[in-house]
Amino acid sequence: MRSSEETSGLTLTERAARIAGLRSFETPTLEDVEYRRLQLWMLTLSLLLAVAVALATFTFWHDLPPPAWFQPQVLQWGLVGIVILFCAYAIEKELQLRRLSQLLVEERVLTTALTNRLREVSSLLEAGKAMNLVLDLQEVLETILNCAHELLGTRDGSIMLVHGEDELRTVYASGKSAARGARLRFGEGIAGRVATTREPLLISGIIDPERRAREPGAHPPPTSSLSVPLIHREMLLGVLNINAAEGHMYNEHQLRALSLFGELAAAAIANARLYEEQRLVASQNVYQALHDLLTNLPNRALFLDRITHALSRRRRKDQLLALLFLDLDDFKLINDSLGHSAGDEVLISFAERLRNCVRSGDAIARFGGDEFAVLVEDISSPPHAVAAAERILAIFAEPFTVGGRSVWLRASVGIAVESLVASSAETLLRNADTAKNVAKSQGKGRIVVFEETMHVDALRRLDLEVELQQAIDQQQLAVHFQPIFALMPNRVVGIEALVRWHHLEKGLLPAAAFLPLAEQAGLMVEIDRWVMREACETLKTLRAEVPLKAPLWLSVNISPTHLREAGLVDQVVEVLTATGLEAEKLVLEVTESAILIDTDKVSTHLNSLKSLGVKLALDDFGTGYSSLSHLRRFPVDMVKIDRVFVDGITTDKGANALVQAIVRLGRGLNIEVVAEGIEQQSQADALQQLRCPFGQGWYFCEALPPDALASFLRRSM
Ligand code: C2E
Ligand code: MG
Ligand code: MG
Repeated sequence: MRSSEETSGLTLTERAARIAGLRSFETPTLEDVEYRRLQLWMLTLSLLLAVAVALATFTFWHDLPPPAWFQPQVLQWGLVGIVILFCAYAIEKELQLRRLSQLLVEERVLTTALTNRLREVSSLLEAGKAMNLVLDLQEVLETILNCAHELLGTRDGSIMLVHGEDELRTVYASGKSAARGARLRFGEGIAGRVATTREPLLISGIIDPERRAREPGAHPPPTSSLSVPLIHREMLLGVLNINAAEGHMYNEHQLRALSLFGELAAAAIANARLYEEQRLVASQNVYQALHDLLTNLPNRALFLDRITHALSRRRRKDQLLALLFLDLDDFKLINDSLGHSAGDEVLISFAERLRNCVRSGDAIARFGGDEFAVLVEDISSPPHAVAAAERILAIFAEPFTVGGRSVWLRASVGIAVESLVASSAETLLRNADTAKNVAKSQGKGRIVVFEETMHVDALRRLDLEVELQQAIDQQQLAVHFQPIFALMPNRVVGIEALVRWHHLEKGLLPAAAFLPLAEQAGLMVEIDRWVMREACETLKTLRAEVPLKAPLWLSVNISPTHLREAGLVDQVVEVLTATGLEAEKLVLEVTESAILIDTDKVSTHLNSLKSLGVKLALDDFGTGYSSLSHLRRFPVDMVKIDRVFVDGITTDKGANALVQAIVRLGRGLNIEVVAEGIEQQSQADALQQLRCPFGQGWYFCEALPPDALASFLRRSM
C-alpha cells in the first residue's frame, strides 16, 4: 500500500522539512523544529496583541472622530475573523510541529540505544579477537576476565573450570569478592547451579545476607552478579562469574551480552587447551627423540649437542674437556642368563649410580645397549680425566642386585681429551669410542686414553675380523701347548692348550691378539670347540709318541659364551670318548668373569662337567671381584694365580702376601694352585719359598707347537 506522503509526491523527509518550514529539504533537527514552534508562538502572540490593541483603541477611544468611510462594526468583525483564521492555522501548525518534535525525540533515543548496542557488539568482537590472539591457557583466562570486565564496567569476577565429573574449580579470579581457589560441586552455589542448568543467571541483591553478616572478615558481597556457562561444542567447560561494582545493578540485557561473550570465551579456552595438548605431545615427542627412555638419560643426539655447546663455551676459556666412553663388560651375559628385564634393571641402577657419581655440571648419556658416555668439563690436564674415570669405575665396587641376586660388573672406559682448538663433537666421540674399544681388547675394567695411532689400530682390527673368519675356513689356526710344572722339584705335570693364528702377513699371533675379535665376531664357540678336539687328539698322539712317566693333564680354556652353550657337556663327553682321554686329566679353565653371574645355567653346566670327572680351574684368579666367594660357590679344583701377582711377587709386599694367602687357602680347601706367567728365576724361587705347588711361564717354557712340545717333553722326562 502506498502511503499518503508518497501519493502527495513528497518524501517523509521533505514533508518534515516543509512542516518545519525549512527551505532546504534536509532532515530537520529537533532544534530546528523547536525553533520553528517558538517562532509560531511568538507570531501568534504578536498578532493577538496587535488585534487586542486595535480593538481596545476603537472601543475605548471615543473622543477621536472616525472618518466618514469608517464602519467600526465591519472593522471589528473583520479583525475577529482574521484572528480566528490565524489561530486555526497556528493550532494546526503547532500540532504538526509537536508530532514532528516527538518523532525526532524518539529517533534520537533509538539512535542512542542503537549506538550503544553497536558499541557492545564491537566490544564483543574485539574481545573475541583478543582472546584468540593468545594461546597460553593462563593468558587466555586473564584476557577473558579483562574483556568481560571492560564490557560490564567492573573489576570483580572469576572463571571456574570443570574438574573431573562434577566439580568446578576457580582457575582465575580478580577483584575482591571472587573466591580464589574455590571448589564447588555441580548444583552447589550460583556457579554450580549454572553448571547444572547450563543457563545464564542474573542475581540482583545479596544472597543470604544473614549468613554474610555472620562472616565479619569477609569482603562485602556484590549487590548484583552475572554467571554464564562456558560451553563449546555442547561441552561444558566452566562458568564465568562477573560481580557488579558497588551500587551497580545488572539487567537482562547485560546478561544476554555476557552469554554471547561466554560463547566466544569458551571457544578461546577450548583452543588454548587444544594448543596446550599439542604442545605437550610435541614436547613429549621431542623428549623421546632426545632421551633414552629406559634410563631417562640423554641419548646420543642430545649428548652430541651438549658436547658442541661445551666446546663453544670452552673455546673462549681455553680449558680442557674430556669425553669418557663407558662400555659394561660382559653385559650380554646378564641378558642371556638372567633375561632382558634383569639386564634393564641393571642398566637403570647403573644409570642412577652414574648420576650420583658425576659432578652436577657434567653431562651423561646412554647410547643404547650397555654404552654410556660422560662429558667432564673444566679439567686442566688428561690425568684429571683419568681420575674422573677411576671414580666412575669405583661404582662397581658394590654389586648390583637383580631379583635378589648380586651381580658383579665392570666397565671398560675410553677417554678422549681435547685441547678444543680444532675439534668437533663427532671427532671427540669417535676418539673416545676408539679408546674404549682398545680398553676392551686389553681386558676388562680398563681405562685407556685416546692416542692418534689408535685409529690405525682400529682399522687394522676391522681387517683382522674379516681375515679371522677366513683363517678358520682355511685352517690357519693352530693349538700350541705351554707346559705346566710342579715347582718342588721342577717337572712337567700338565699342558695348557693355547690357540694360535698363523697369519699370512703378520706371522704367528698369540690368542690375546685375536680372541677379543673372535668374541666380537661371534666366532668364539666355534674356535673353542675346535681347540678342545684338536688339543685332546694331540695329547693322544703325544702319549703314543713320547714315553711319559706320569700322564699329563690337559688344560683347555673355555670362553664365557662357550660355558653357556647348551651342547658343552655333550661335546666334552664326545671328545673324551673319541680320544680315550681320562676325564680327570682334562682341566677346563674358566675365567672369573665367565662365572661372574651366578646363573643356574652356569651352575648346572659346571656340576654336569664335574659329574663326568672333569676338573675345573679358575683362571686369572684374583683379578675379579669377590674371587674368594667364587671358590665357595662353585666346584673348583684348581686356581691359577694371575700373572700380575706373580709379576710383583719379588718387589711388591702386597702381591707376595696375596700369593701366599692363595697358596694357603688352596691347601686348606684342597684346591690345586698354579702360578701363571713366571718369567724369572727369582719369581720361581719366591713361589717355591711360598710352597706354591705348580707354575707355568716363559721362564720354564713358552707355548709350543705339538712337535716342539714332543721334543721338549722328551728332553725333560
Ligand atoms: P690364560 O689362559 O691365562 O693363558 C696364559 C696367557 O699368558 C697366554 O697368552 C700365554 O701365552 C701367556 N703367557 C704364558 N706365560 C707367560 C709369561 O711368562 N709371561 C707373559 N707375559 N705371558 C705368558 P695367550 O695365548 O695370548 O692367551 C691369552 C688368553 O686367551 C688366555 O689366558 C686365555 O684366557 C685365552 N685363550 C687362549 N687360548 C684360548 C682358547 O683356545 N680358547 C679360549 N676360550 N681362550 C683362550
Ligand atoms: Mg688359561
Ligand atoms: Mg690366566
